[in-house]
Amino acid sequence: MTESPICFDRPRRLRCGKCRHEWHVTAEWLEKFDQALEGCPLCGTDCRSEGHPNFCAEPESRWHDDTALRESYWYHSSTHENWPDKNFDPAADITDVTKRRFDAMGLSVEDWAARQESKALHVGTYEAAIENTLRRLDDHRGALDQFYLYRVQLTSDCVIEPGVHPKPTDWVGNAYLAGVLTSGSTVLRYVNVHEDPSSISLALEPVAIRAVQSIPIPLTVDAREPWVLDATARLVRASSEPPLQPADVRQRWHYQQMSALESEVRRLESEISAELPARLRRRFRTGFNDAGFDAAAPAAFPVMLIGLAHLITDAQSVLQALGLQPWRSVS
Ligand SMILES: [Zn+2]
Repeated sequence: MTESPICFDRPRRLRCGKCRHEWHVTAEWLEKFDQALEGCPLCGTDCRSEGHPNFCAEPESRWHDDTALRESYWYHSSTHENWPDKNFDPAADITDVTKRRFDAMGLSVEDWAARQESKALHVGTYEAAIENTLRRLDDHRGALDQFYLYRVQLTSDCVIEPGVHPKPTDWVGNAYLAGVLTSGSTVLRYVNVHEDPSSISLALEPVAIRAVQSIPIPLTVDAREPWVLDATARLVRASSEPPLQPADVRQRWHYQQMSALESEVRRLESEISAELPARLRRRFRTGFNDAGFDAAAPAAFPVMLIGLAHLITDAQSVLQALGLQPWRSVS
């Protein structure tokens, strides 16, 4: 089995949808491209046009080769502790009220559950798994969810669909493999355009996974580190400041209406993310706020913040921690 070199700020490959030109770009170039200040160097097509340039796979990637793909480690991150769960029953959490709504809409819970179960599993590079965690941190309601990182081994005889495809998704972004795979295949290569963009990810059926290792992420950090102690004191101080009065709020700009605690959280995020590759700085937003602050454990947030940054800046420690875990067989 082989581990791929990890690099969060390598150049990305783009392909122009209009003239088909392919070239490499940096994070700085992409930032300008997103503001329509840059475009295809050959035909000028920018992000506003139909056929705008988009990420494509590296032609030299060794993962075009089926054997290399099967012999590589793949990664996945999730808030599920037992991914991929063979006994997962999507209908288990459905209430009677929801069932009645399904009935009223003429839908069957069984069909819906079958469709949920047929959603494809995804694995990708280490970088893509970590970027997925960062993206999802921002989605929740201010508290800190526990995430898990999985290292995945494919079965040695899984059948891989030829070629590299666009991500197979429906209109809400769920991936379904039915109808995309030709007979017998259980793994589909696709270009990841959101996480570790222009890398190859895989949508696959559970039967293609041989075993997984997993650890909770981020790794724990010593709460006695000077930055953690200082950050904790700053959070505790901010949490004791009185909330803004309505009279004040009317006179302030929107961004100033944040609580003192939330402003301090955003400052801590900026301090830590300043050490990260430029492309990830903007993504380094945890969504943590007053609702998630636990006065009994005020160091939890600074510890997590440093741990998150280490997932990017010290990936080798994360891989070592994974390496100590037993393999759990899946298929
Ligand atoms: Zn072009």
